[in-house]
This record gives sequence, structure tokens and C-alpha cells, in this order.
Amino acid sequence: MTYDRYGEPVEDETGQDDTHTCDNGWLGEDYAGRPIPCLTCRPHLQKGYTR
Ligand SMILES: [Zn+2]
Repeated sequence: MTYDRYGEPVEDETGQDDTHTCDNGWLGEDYAGRPIPCLTCRPHLQKGYTR
């Protein structure tokens, strides 16, 4: 946990929640064998990766 200058707890941007179980930014492969990006780690891949 990180605290700001006022001593209030701050969510770490790189922190992982309880359901976050990716492998170095990847969640595995889909039915077609394409890699599935972890959108928590790689939000910029949210659009267009299914092309
Ligand atoms: Zn992730």
C-alpha cells in the first residue's frame, strides 16, 4: 500500500487485485490460439487485438 503526502492510503497503479491472475501481462490463449492480453496490465490493447 502506498500513502500520499497526507498519509491517506492510495491504490498502487501497478497493484494487483485478488482476481488479477495474468502471466506477465497475458492471460493465455483464446479458442483460436491467439494470445489474450491482460487488460489490467495492457489497457492499450483493449481495442483491436482481435483483428
Ligand atoms: Zn495483468
